[in-house]
Amino acid sequence: MSECIFCKIAAKEIPATVVFEDEEVLVFMDIGPIMKGHALVIPKKHYDPVTEIPDELLAKLHITAKKIAKAQLNGLGADGVNIMQNNGKASGQEVPHLHVHVIPRFDGDGHHWNWNAKSYNDFDEMSELADRIRHSV
Ligand code: AMP
Ligand code: ZN
Repeated sequence: MSECIFCKIAAKEIPATVVFEDEEVLVFMDIGPIMKGHALVIPKKHYDPVTEIPDELLAKLHITAKKIAKAQLNGLGADGVNIMQNNGKASGQEVPHLHVHVIPRFDGDGHHWNWNAKSYNDFDEMSELADRIRHSV
C-alpha cells in the first residue's frame, strides 16, 4: 500500500514518535490527540478493515494495547483509558490502515463522547436485529 500513511510510518519513510515496536507491531503517538498521551497501535503490515486481519495478529494488537494502557495508567498517572478501533468511513475512520486507539483519561478531563444513545421502538425490533446478527456469526 504505497500511498498509505501508516504503512509509510511503519516503513520509517515518514517520522512518528514511536513508543514501542517489535517485528509485527508499532505503537506511536497520535498527532491529533483526544487527550494528551493518546497512542495508536498498528500492525506493520497493511490490513483493513478489522475483518481482514488474522486472529493471532489481532490478538497481539490488543495485548499490546493493554500494555500501553497499563503504561498510561502507571507512567502518565491516567485514571482510566479508552481503547477503540474504527472501521469504515461510516464509523468515523479517517486512516484506512487498521489501528487501535489507546487514550489516557483523567478524572474531570472534560472530554465527553457524544454517545447519544438511541432506543428501540419495542422489544421485537431489538430481538429481530439480534436474530440477524446471531444467524450471521
Ligand atoms: P481514525 O479516525 O480512527 O482513522 O483515526 C486516525 C488517527 O490517526 C487520528 O486520531 C489522527 O490524529 C491520527 N493521525 C493521522 N495522521 C497521523 C500521523 N502522521 N501521525 C500520527 N497520527 C496520525
Ligand atoms: Zn497501510
